[in-house]
Amino acid sequence: MKFTPDTVIKRDEITRYYANGRDFIDDELIERQLEAARNPDPARVRDILAKSLAIQTLEPAETALLLHVSDPELRREMEEAALKIKRFVYDNRIVTFAPMYISSFCVNRCRYCGFSSENDLLKRRCLTMDEIKAEAAAMTGRDGHKRVMAVFGEHPISGAEFIAQSLEAIYSVNVKTRHGTSNVRRINVNAAPMSIDDLKIIQKGGIGTFQVFQETYHHKTYADMHPAGTVKGDYGWRITAMHRAFDAGIDDVGLGVLFGLHDWRFEVMGLVTHARELERFRGIGPHTFSVPRLHPASGSEVSSNPLDDFTDDNFKHAVTVLRLSVPYTGLIVTARESPELRDACVDLGITQMDASTRIGIGAYAAQAGQEIDEQQFLLGDPRTLEELICDLARRGIITSFCTAGYRCGRTGGCIMDSLKTGKEGTFCKINAVLTFREWLDDFASPASVKICEPVIKAELAAIQENYPKFYPQILDRYNRICAGERDLYF
Ligand code: SAM
Ligand code: SF4
Repeated sequence: MKFTPDTVIKRDEITRYYANGRDFIDDELIERQLEAARNPDPARVRDILAKSLAIQTLEPAETALLLHVSDPELRREMEEAALKIKRFVYDNRIVTFAPMYISSFCVNRCRYCGFSSENDLLKRRCLTMDEIKAEAAAMTGRDGHKRVMAVFGEHPISGAEFIAQSLEAIYSVNVKTRHGTSNVRRINVNAAPMSIDDLKIIQKGGIGTFQVFQETYHHKTYADMHPAGTVKGDYGWRITAMHRAFDAGIDDVGLGVLFGLHDWRFEVMGLVTHARELERFRGIGPHTFSVPRLHPASGSEVSSNPLDDFTDDNFKHAVTVLRLSVPYTGLIVTARESPELRDACVDLGITQMDASTRIGIGAYAAQAGQEIDEQQFLLGDPRTLEELICDLARRGIITSFCTAGYRCGRTGGCIMDSLKTGKEGTFCKINAVLTFREWLDDFASPASVKICEPVIKAELAAIQENYPKFYPQILDRYNRICAGERDLYF
């Protein structure tokens, strides 16, 4: 089947989610809310922070006020509240993953992306199932990754059946390590919006989070960036992608925007409005927000000319406001950004980071230097997973490889409730220790073990103090991992 708007888009799977014939992003309303929020009253801002600290989703008008805070003292209070919330909901841990770019074929012509069908400079490639397995073996065997974000262009060559088979291929790989084995245990997917029937197909392949970035919530900018007549040119098909995911039975979804295309405050408002719409629709908010920022991509002029008001300071402001506005949602800052900026964002409440990242197709299994001409854009943080883990450990932060929530059915509404009440943090703390022990024994150098061991000891001591009755059971699994058993969790 050719991929054109007529063959891909199911009009009734858009309009059924509309109210009064239109989508839920009202540009003029957002602009009015932002305008009305200029010069916020500090007392009002502090009331809003109290609401965030009670783990309640903010109203868009409240988010707008936070976006306009410029007083350094108030910004500092916001950042402190953001970190407190992160600690309450997610404890002091960071979850790591790595993207696996599987196919660069694409029918769309997004003006910022190196995969655009108009980019003749790109050597396109779609991995075979054997090549996908080789990628999985390299990622999990060399660096010790347990979570993968599988990324696909939109093209008949990488349709729903292909995506499902790719997931099965990745899950099938299990490699021997120093003291045990390693395998990918959770695969999230970043792909184009799909019909409900296609989403049911990829759900059967074992998808973790389904990620679709809106790129920009601003209708006119969206139309400028995505030419009419392409599949992606249809704003309505994209803005309703997660409603269809829920109706297909996928209750774990990730939202994002590509910062640098339109006013950053507007985009944060868009993300929060989208989260609230999903809460309204199904009682389940997004599992994650991603905040990619436009980076130079081959063949794209737009990508080298992002809006210049989205400075690093505004990036941090956006991350802080997202943490405060939707307190239970995970926040991902990818290796597109510099190490300094990513490290600063750890204290503002981010929960997931990628490392040892390669974004060329087949780049993990390739020889060094081979991937460069196939990349979608350029990376800002070249740290290996081991380097990132040690940097975090020096700050007392534990890296978690936990994938238990999804495999124990703690997803969707169920996980939202336990996140909001701080209960999920309990499981996560325990599973973080168990999975970190595995990683240290299988992959860390002696120097890294020395840096990381105090963190794991401190976490174990905290578990013993907080859950004395449960502790013997936890210790039993911990000791079994030390003896070479793998993939034990609660
Ligand atoms: N084709 C699918 C889609 O468009 O949703 C998914 C794959 S696409 C490669 C994944 C994401 O990469 C896009 O949603 C976009 O936000 C991001 N991206 C594209 N071009 C970029 C650039 N120049 N800099 C940073 N991120 C970019
Ligand atoms: Fe294709 Fe996605 Fe790139 Fe657009 S952003 S050109 S849809 S891969």
